Amino acid sequence: MSIKENLDKIKRSIPDNVTLVAVSKTKPLEDIIEAYNAGHRVFGENKVQELTVKHEALPKDIEWHMIGRLQSNKVKYIAPFVSLIHGVDSMKLAKEINKRAIQNSRVINCLLQVKIALEDTKAGFEAQEADDLISGDELNDLKGIRIVGLMGMASNDPDENSVRMEFRELKSMFDKSGLDILSTGMSGDFQIAIEEGSTMVRIGSLIFGARNYTV
Ligand SMILES: *Cc1c(COP(=O)(O)O)cnc(C)c1O
Repeated sequence: MSIKENLDKIKRSIPDNVTLVAVSKTKPLEDIIEAYNAGHRVFGENKVQELTVKHEALPKDIEWHMIGRLQSNKVKYIAPFVSLIHGVDSMKLAKEINKRAIQNSRVINCLLQVKIALEDTKAGFEAQEADDLISGDELNDLKGIRIVGLMGMASNDPDENSVRMEFRELKSMFDKSGLDILSTGMSGDFQIAIEEGSTMVRIGSLIFGARNYTV
């Protein structure tokens, strides 16, 4: 199947109120152009270097999302153009995004990444920490960033039910938060994520095919 066919198929299977982020990491410009020509405009990358190169090369009406772990010292490279940063996982990073946003006369939309997986490899704030940050002043006083939602990654667990419970827990926190975006779900678990309230799914391999990290 072509990229366009893959996109069409996924779009048909997700509700209109769920945003599809096409995760193009490791994929060449031609693949992104194919998706762009099929009408898609929202793309996600997880490496700053790759994101800046692709932003330079491609049409400027693309909405670029930074979805991976972001090092504070690299924020300056994406601050001029990034439209959403999914993985804010420390106050240090939030402060750096704020500083660079202000330098660029922007307000950068961000999601707080919350640790929902029982396995310990995933990044993010503990739920209680995230709760405190949402209701407290420390983040809200940073005028260069706007926290618009929460992001979470479930365990790489073959047990569908534990994945579902992880998403469900984040959803209940999201409902209390009053925020707009709940970014959960990837190629392997987006249907469960949507059933459990996701408003934004990040899908790579189902659109562009498996990634080859040795290239
Ligand atoms: C790579 C990646 C995705 C997409 O993964 P697929 O399994 O290819 O859909 C989603 N979210 C994040 C944070 C990623 O790094």
